[in-house]
Parts: sequence; structure tokens; C-alpha cells
Amino acid sequence: MSHAEWNWIADVRRRAGSHPHVRVGIGDDAALLKTSGNVLVTTDMLMDGVDFIVGQTPPELIGRKCLAVNLSDIAAMAGRPTGAVVSLALPKSHGRELAEGLYRGLFKLAEEFDCPIIGGDTNSWDGPLVVNVTVLGEPTGAGPVTRSGARPGDRILVTGPLGGSLPSLRHCTFTPRVPEARRLHQAVSLHTMLDISDGLASDLFHIAESSGVGLEIDARTIPIHSDVDPSLPFEPRLKHALNDGEDFELLFCVDGADAERLLAKPPDGVTLFAIGRCVQQPGVRIRVRDEMKPLIRAGWEHQFG
Ligand SMILES: [Mg+2]
Repeated sequence: MSHAEWNWIADVRRRAGSHPHVRVGIGDDAALLKTSGNVLVTTDMLMDGVDFIVGQTPPELIGRKCLAVNLSDIAAMAGRPTGAVVSLALPKSHGRELAEGLYRGLFKLAEEFDCPIIGGDTNSWDGPLVVNVTVLGEPTGAGPVTRSGARPGDRILVTGPLGGSLPSLRHCTFTPRVPEARRLHQAVSLHTMLDISDGLASDLFHIAESSGVGLEIDARTIPIHSDVDPSLPFEPRLKHALNDGEDFELLFCVDGADAERLLAKPPDGVTLFAIGRCVQQPGVRIRVRDEMKPLIRAGWEHQFG
């Protein structure tokens, strides 16, 4: 280990500070985290040119996004984050500058969500910036909410407007719905939940496949974000809401009575839109101008090979 790397680790360790449930933190061979039992684990690898663009996206926002997408996955399980592990592959030129900016964004969000940074690895190479963050968490209340519990008759709800998150940089500045998910989890029985990352259309298919139900949504009820160009006609704007992705709003299903209760009195700080229903007949469909059509799965999917 070089002297420079050692100073960097010491700096990160100082900034990470202490936390009541971190028994051994940054600087030892492994961290020791006190947990209450079951542990949620989520990880995301983000790459320059795919998930952000170095030179166009400020490093603070890149760091923020790399942690936020993981916190959003913990939110989707209705969990509470307990610690984050951060690994960086830094480009050799401007690596130090980039790392400092990244960590400013990371630490700020980590503090906001009471999620201590407990370890990681920092390397440099001739390639572009790659950041991997793993977040650990614990389930709350009635346990984690998975994708497989939707039932025919359930209503489908979403916590905010969708579309246009890439050009507006909302994909870097969004606030993970961690407290909102827990308030919903306390208020009603959540049958299934996920955070919208691939796009509403793709993520509806994820619920349909995991739960073995059909889903029907109504185009008129889908909240379209003001980041989507308002001068566009309705259908192109709807497509942005369905397919852009990286909205990081919660998409969940509850039974009819719970949906009515939530819509009549949403938990504090939670915005809700009812967009459709689960049905027996398999498939995902959308009602557009009184005609029910198969929904095209056109959101973001990673390409391999
Ligand atoms: Mg997710």
C-alpha cells in the first residue's frame, strides 16, 4: 500500500466518524457491524458513460447517486439502512480530485440517512471511473416487502410523478423513499413493492412475473413528471413516464380497502397515485382512450454479448 493511499484511507476514516452500531469501522481488515438479526444486502456498480458522465455530472452528484440507488433498494424492501461499503476504481488522471468530490456527496447523503460508511476499497487504473456501493440494512415491522406478493384485486400505487429524470439530472438528485416506505409499511399490509429504476413499464412486468398476476393500468392516471417536456403531445409524454426509468419512486400493491384508506389519508410526507389493478389474466395491459392494449416492455434493460 502506498503512502498516498494510506493518507486517503485515514482521511476517509476520520470523516466516517463513529456510529453506535459500528463496532469496528474503516481501517481494519474487516468491519464489524452490530445487527438485530436478518440482514438486507444490496449492491450496485455504476460506470462512467453508462450511469453518469464524468465531466458533465459534478463528482458530488455522482457520489450521491451511487449511494442513493442502493438506499432506494433498501427502501423498496421497507428496510432501514445500517451501513455502506464503497469501492472505487479511479482513473489515473484527476483521480484524487474525483474521489474527494465523490466522497463529499456520499458522506452528505450517508449522514442524512444515518447510514455509516463502514469500509471499501480504492484503486486507480487506466480505465474510466467505476463505483461499486453495497448497502446493508435490516427489515422493519412485518418483515421485508418482496416482489412476489401481489394478488388479483390489488390496487397498484406509485409515490410520485415519472419520466424525464435523465436530462434534468433528477437521476442523481432524487431522494430515496426510505422513511416513506416505512410509514406505508406501518400503515397497511404492503403485498409487493419495488423502486422504479428500469422504468414503470419494465417494473410492472417484474411484479407480474414475480407475483404470477396480470396488471392493468390506466394511461389517464399515470402521473407524468414536470421534467418531461410539457410542450409534447400526451402520448409521447406518457411514453417518457412509462419508459425513461431512474425515477426511484416506490411502486407497490395493496388490497382495495387498504388502498382506499391510504388515498383518503396518506402517511405524513407521502404522495400517492393509484394507477391500476392486479387481475387474474396474465400479462400487462394499459387502457388508452377506452381501449385496453398490451403494454410494450420498453424500459431500460442492460445489454450483454
Ligand atoms: Mg430496486
